[in-house]
Amino acid sequence: MVSSELRGLRVLISGAGVAGPAVAYWLSRYGADTTVVEVAPALRTSGFAVDFRGPTHLGVLSKMGVLDDLRALQTHAGAMRGVDENGRQIFELPAAFAGGDLEVHRRDLSRVFYERSAERTEYLFGDVIAAATETADGIHVEFGHHVARTFDLVIGADGLHSGVRRIMFGREERYVRHLGYYLAGWDLPNSLGVDATPLQYNVPGRMASVAADQRNPDRVGAFVVFVSPRLDYDWRDIDQQKKLIADTFTGLRWHVPHLLAGLRDAPELYFDSISRASVPAWSSGRAALLGDAAWGVTLGGMGVGTAIVGAYVLAGELAAAGGDHRAGFSAYENRMRPYAARWQRGASPGKFLAPASALGLWFRNSLLGTRLAQRLLISSTKTLATDADLPEYVS
Ligand SMILES: Cc1cc2nc3c(=O)[nH]c(=O)nc-3n(C[C@H](O)[C@H](O)[C@H](O)COP(=O)(O)OP(=O)(O)OC[C@H]3O[C@@H](n4cnc5c(N)ncnc54)[C@H](O)[C@@H]3O)c2cc1C
Repeated sequence: MVSSELRGLRVLISGAGVAGPAVAYWLSRYGADTTVVEVAPALRTSGFAVDFRGPTHLGVLSKMGVLDDLRALQTHAGAMRGVDENGRQIFELPAAFAGGDLEVHRRDLSRVFYERSAERTEYLFGDVIAAATETADGIHVEFGHHVARTFDLVIGADGLHSGVRRIMFGREERYVRHLGYYLAGWDLPNSLGVDATPLQYNVPGRMASVAADQRNPDRVGAFVVFVSPRLDYDWRDIDQQKKLIADTFTGLRWHVPHLLAGLRDAPELYFDSISRASVPAWSSGRAALLGDAAWGVTLGGMGVGTAIVGAYVLAGELAAAGGDHRAGFSAYENRMRPYAARWQRGASPGKFLAPASALGLWFRNSLLGTRLAQRLLISSTKTLATDADLPEYVS
């Protein structure tokens, strides 16, 4: 059902990940004319499983009408096992910790949101905002390839390395802090014969893990995390990144040599620093930031959950304000900031996945081996995820 609170409002959204298609869906449902510009030539397919926790996340998915579709795509991943170099189990984390209440592959989530929004949204793939100039009655946007246009609002839902943030808020170094770790993921043939239970092997400062793909058990996903100061590399040069990973993990035992052999032939690689975005004000004039661009932590665990809650609130507050962006952006930030900030404070994925010292690793492994610590971990992530009292917006 389409309502009319935002009829005629022209909104450009940068990024077709998770937050972008979600906010496009909501804005167009309130009558806005929505366009999404995405740098990749098609929806991105790399990445791993992502999860939703608690009634707030599931409630927003249900309001979007995608909960059943996503349930049908659940990974049903099992427990996560920590192992030593001979494959002997050190600890086992219950499925509820790793997978929350609903776990799906990121690519499936992105596709479901895209399909839900595409009926009323224009998508421009393989392009970026090259320049944006705010005028009295709009933002004049120049694209890399498409013809320039004027929009009423621009939303940056383009991830931790947001282009909108760089162009309209200031350079990335002001807002993104490197947290001392890098991560990488790729897939390879399942010649190891592993199943879908994620196995994780650590030495101080380095973690390697592997699990079979549920829907295609002939393939496995490899995932590594390692300690490193900020690296100077070309993000377009996959071969350089592969070499960097190989140099870091060569010499490790367990399945690591096999994963590195698979890395050589991997067609796609997800490689990034583990970083945190902290932006003091999420809007500037007619532009606003949403999702990882505003409050992301790489692998923070609840990136997708907070992104969909933020999309619901941003569109809802704009509609409640009748399209007045000053009032709408301000109400959005007032409502979302405490929720996002609380979750962000608790997110320290690098330290958790790959403790840097032998003592730290021993301590983490001992802790994760106890039922009490496991219960505390599960209940704390649930509390952070559900702690939002969301209004019913007009619809
Ligand atoms: C390829 C990929 C794989 C991921 N894998 C995982 C994972 O396995 N586990 C996990 O917890 N989180 C993962 N994440 C992060 C997770 O998806 C986010 O935390 C969460 O979805 C928040 O969503 P977002 O829409 O704000 O940002 P994202 O999901 O990062 O989406 C941002 C989108 O913006 C696009 N973009 C970037 N710059 C520009 C630009 N200048 N102009 C236009 N478009 C641009 C990107 O290509 C991307 O499609 C991954 C992100 C990406 C991009």
